[in-house]
Amino acid sequence: MKAIGKTKKGPGIEVFDIAEPEVGPEDVLVRVRASAICGTDLHYYHWDGYAERHNPGFPRVLGHEFSGDVVKVGDNVKTLKVGDRIAGETHIPCKVCYLCNTGRMHICKNMKIFGVDTLYGSFAPYTVLPEITAVKIPDSITYEEGALLEPFGVALHAICEANIGPGDVVVITGCGPIGLFAQQLAKISGASMVISTDTKEYRLNLSKRIGVDETINVLNVDPVSRVRELTDGKGADVVIELSGANVAVKQALDMAALNGKVVFVGTTQKPTEIDTTNQILYKELKVSGITGRIMFDTWYRSIKLVQNKIVDLTQVMTHKFALDDAPKAFELLDKGEAGKVLFIP
Ligand SMILES: [Zn+2]
Ligand SMILES: [Zn+2]
Repeated sequence: MKAIGKTKKGPGIEVFDIAEPEVGPEDVLVRVRASAICGTDLHYYHWDGYAERHNPGFPRVLGHEFSGDVVKVGDNVKTLKVGDRIAGETHIPCKVCYLCNTGRMHICKNMKIFGVDTLYGSFAPYTVLPEITAVKIPDSITYEEGALLEPFGVALHAICEANIGPGDVVVITGCGPIGLFAQQLAKISGASMVISTDTKEYRLNLSKRIGVDETINVLNVDPVSRVRELTDGKGADVVIELSGANVAVKQALDMAALNGKVVFVGTTQKPTEIDTTNQILYKELKVSGITGRIMFDTWYRSIKLVQNKIVDLTQVMTHKFALDDAPKAFELLDKGEAGKVLFIP
């Protein structure tokens, strides 16, 4: 079958042929119907330190945000059958560690990530994954929406962690797809004002289309002063940091109001130097971090929000490509001139 991924180290993206995956006793084989490119895939496109650290070998198929149909199940699979429509959860938990057994499976200490630590990802007509990471979706959710449930779930997990109160001023730093999803969710969570920041006009325009109240291009305007100006000097009640830029990490702490909340979601490539005494302690800030989705609380909530049309995931989707167009698709996303880019394998 045709696939997108890597056959060797180094920058770039390749389209190549690979054998269809084998199905183990705990696995399901899935006919992939839609799969989105993630910022994580760009690490392999550039072949940086992250790619070196998460390299299961070659050839490897990239892609981890997807939906499709179950076409074969392993002998021990109990909850899924051929014909079920599923979306992929990327956390592959060990199911036996302390965290797996205490409701925190998504931060399992033996965690593997589908499409990152596995040879078969979802940028191909077929992929294989353990039963526990294939989440059944209802017929009312399209394959394209299904492919976006994984990144949407990160935004929802962050919003649940932020616990937005009615009337809160919320800043979401970063207008990538997860930022845009978080902005939609902040609006429906009762925020009186949602402010977004980014460096790319293309993405700020997507954010405006979603209906945020204020956008800030941090290349032209100091976001901390602007947030203070918009809040009569008070600062934001909630800041959700999704850009992963070191400067934005510091600014997130500075733009939060006294006793406000800051949730970190974006991953930085290098450590950030912060002044815990002045930036957190004297301000009595509540600071937390989240990663991925809670298995499976986030999924139940996400599916209901999409199914009942409370959120529209397609607002964030801007491009669709065939597998052969992978180089074009990656280039577009890398330039920041796209929202979510999907492959239809
Ligand atoms: Zn992802
Ligand atoms: Zn575990």
